[in-house]
Amino acid sequence: MAAFLIVMPTMKTAAWEKRIRAAQPDIDLRVWPEVGDPEEIVFALTWRHPHGTFKRFPNLKCIASMGAGVDNILSDPDLPAGVPITRIVDSSLAQSMTEYVVMAVLNYCRNARFFRDREAEGVWKPVIPKLAANEKVGILGLGQLGSDAARKLQTLGFTVAGWRRSQQPMAGVETFCGLSQFQAFLAATRILVNMLPLTAETRNILNRDTFTHLPPGAYLVNVARGEHLVEEDLLEAIAAGQLSGACLDVFRTEPLSQEHPFWAHPGITVTPHIASLTNPAAVIPHIMENYRRVLAGREAAHKVDCDRGY
Ligand code: NAP
Repeated sequence: MAAFLIVMPTMKTAAWEKRIRAAQPDIDLRVWPEVGDPEEIVFALTWRHPHGTFKRFPNLKCIASMGAGVDNILSDPDLPAGVPITRIVDSSLAQSMTEYVVMAVLNYCRNARFFRDREAEGVWKPVIPKLAANEKVGILGLGQLGSDAARKLQTLGFTVAGWRRSQQPMAGVETFCGLSQFQAFLAATRILVNMLPLTAETRNILNRDTFTHLPPGAYLVNVARGEHLVEEDLLEAIAAGQLSGACLDVFRTEPLSQEHPFWAHPGITVTPHIASLTNPAAVIPHIMENYRRVLAGREAAHKVDCDRGY
């Protein structure tokens, strides 16, 4: 017996179950916490699993993240050693994320919030927009998602730079590598977009020191993880005029508490972690392909490098 287990305690799983059964009608599909015999579990599809879950399955051959990020999986101190971890790489995820990033950047350049507030007051108050040709966007992380956003922002006429770990040229995008080039990257960035994975190196990377190296009045977009951002440092930087504002999709604690100062802040736009939601219809073919590979003893696609953390 080889069973496929869904472990997504924070989500409704009915749509996933239906599509997985449609893709493979003879599948032995189980949904946590109704695990059955733990020895039969060979493949786990997961999002925000309770830590310690996977160590119970001695024959587990693959842990598949339901999203692009794997930080919650890797932060489990009881992860079974040697079980491959995979993540989602799909053009629909990149397309959705790019739409959000383009929206956030254009809302900033076109003063969308200012005009929404004037509209509510019935006040006619022209303000000159910032034009793409004069704006420099710096993207932290030029991976699957960051590189797609970089290309499309470039098409709109923005000057785009990126920061990554490895030296990989990208046409028309000035690329900065590693900590030695971090400050030079920040100095050339007017709109900072964070698309990094959450790792030991990147946790709290959006902090006071980072903001100090941006040109005064720079704008922040965070679509990666809440733990990248030191929230008090953002509030201080906006109060000091070092940053002009921020658009945030992710938060240290989600949902954002009712009392959180970000909600009412006039310079901060809040969205509830919706920049790029995984679309089951688009990604189930990839997941089922990996399930079949695992059953056949072959290597799964889009494996995460656990030492690197992404
Ligand atoms: P990815 O393909 O793994 O790309 C990660 C990028 O970050 C790579 O370019 C990598 O550099 C760079 N990087 C990693 N660690 C670094 C470091 N210490 N210093 C400099 N650069 C570093 O990841 P992805 O698929 O683009 O996804 C990025 C993140 O987006 C996910 O991890 C997730 O947290 C977030 N996300 C959010 C949502 C949402 O709805 N808000 C949805 C999906 C994903 P190299 O290229 O040199 O390796």
